[in-house]
Amino acid sequence: MKPIEALNLIRGQWQESVSGNRFQSYNPADTREILGTAPRSTPDDVDKAVTAAREAFDTWRRTSRIKRGEYIDQLAQLIKRDLNALAELVTRECGKPINEGRADVVEALHMAQYVAGMVRMPHGEIIDSEIAEKDAYILRKPKGVVACITPWNFPVAIPLWTILPSLLEGNTVVFKPSEDTPLCAHRLAELFVEAGFPPGVFNVVHGYGEDAGDALVHHPGVDVVVFTGSYAVGRYIEQECAKQHKFCAVEMGGKNAVIVLDDANLDIAVHAAILSAFKTSGQRCVSSNRIIVHEKIEPEFTRRFVETARMIKIGNGLDPDVFMGPLINEQGVQKYLHHNQKAIEEGAEVLLPGGLLKEGELQYGHFVAPFVYRMRHRSDSFVLREEAFSPHVAIIPVSSLEEAVFVYNDTPYGLAMAVITEDYRKWRYVRDNCEFGVGYVNLPSIGAEVHLPFGGVKGSGNGHPSASALFDAVTHKVAFTVNHGTEIKMAQGLSAKIR
Ligand code: NAP
Repeated sequence: MKPIEALNLIRGQWQESVSGNRFQSYNPADTREILGTAPRSTPDDVDKAVTAAREAFDTWRRTSRIKRGEYIDQLAQLIKRDLNALAELVTRECGKPINEGRADVVEALHMAQYVAGMVRMPHGEIIDSEIAEKDAYILRKPKGVVACITPWNFPVAIPLWTILPSLLEGNTVVFKPSEDTPLCAHRLAELFVEAGFPPGVFNVVHGYGEDAGDALVHHPGVDVVVFTGSYAVGRYIEQECAKQHKFCAVEMGGKNAVIVLDDANLDIAVHAAILSAFKTSGQRCVSSNRIIVHEKIEPEFTRRFVETARMIKIGNGLDPDVFMGPLINEQGVQKYLHHNQKAIEEGAEVLLPGGLLKEGELQYGHFVAPFVYRMRHRSDSFVLREEAFSPHVAIIPVSSLEEAVFVYNDTPYGLAMAVITEDYRKWRYVRDNCEFGVGYVNLPSIGAEVHLPFGGVKGSGNGHPSASALFDAVTHKVAFTVNHGTEIKMAQGLSAKIR
């Protein structure tokens, strides 16, 4: 693949960072393969991008919503045209197997189609007033400049979850992609330019979180920060935005689980648990590090789960038979090893030892094997409460439905939950008593669709889900009342008399 030299996109112009510094993007499946470089942006670059977005805002917000949707429709067509090339780039840059790289781009395409289709749907509400001569409306207005800060694990889909609703509603955007996947972001930016978005409406600043991302969060010209990433960074952004009286929507990590009840269909249970634990090598925010299993069926479930996990094919995601690609970077590998070590220290019964894979070509990538253990729940456990973001999986035996729900809830997070049961009373109990934002019955804990809200509770989010629900975060709901009478009448029987 020819190396890609990414640039910032500011006011419709491709620009180098004022620092002149660049950083490399490499293939996590083979770290010898440098895929390209991107500008290491500074606060000055961020200032230029935010200024461009501010200046473009006034014209963009007054552009008809249907016209704004047409730009997004054009973008959808370009994504469809380039689907295969984008999918391959996703696989090369973030290591996901090619089928997952493709699904990432298809999800981005669905988001673009969904948002473009929204333009001809009802947008506000007409509502009755207490006064017969008054018409009342609820209208939506854009908030201004939206900063979209995204993680590496869905380098095409997640940016569009946040950027497109923002743009459709008349906001302008400054996008700071992950430093691990700048080239996917660059290809996306090229499509925005080709789709004809007016200069300044959509801007990109590449770079590191601590300089470009931080400067964006603190820039006074940014009205809204939409962040997707880890709890540590999201929590920091929440605090910094609160100090500035700035609105933020943060979607963060999870310590998700599959709950397997005593009446579960074991074929479905094992299949769902394997997909939840190991798809994307456990690097989805909705990946399950915990499989909570009723002790009546736990031995048989565990035998089958371990047997299947042992057979997983690990390798370069460009091979269509590979199920698990590499971890994203050295930090990800260290996190995985740390969790494995902590599990052993906390008394886990190790069933699959996992570890770094160093045979043949695998030695050049960040490849690791599934680490699986059995452990009773403990509220003071580190490994049963903190996200490992890797193929690190605890099988936790429980003795009742109520205990399963207690164990599920006993973490700082509340993102994804899957329950495997044939009994509607049981899944209803789980649905009503587990804390989550994305729930499944007889399915894995992964598998978002763009027309559903996507977000979590507790440490997983601050109540402003992404995808179809993001429209609420990037608009103000405005009450607008018109008097058609010839005198002023007030609600609540309030007197309108002056003398
Ligand atoms: P991350 O380290 O939190 O980074 C996310 C983004 O924030 C990156 O663009 C990062 O830049 C930037 N950033 C870092 N420090 C910053 C700062 N001080 N100010 C502003 N921006 C800053 O997360 P990640 O490792 O990319 O992604 C994995 C995490 O994301 C996991 O915890 C996963 O569960 C979560 N996630 C959540 C969802 C969801 O919807 N709930 C979806 C996907 C992933 P750099 O790349 O330069 O560090």
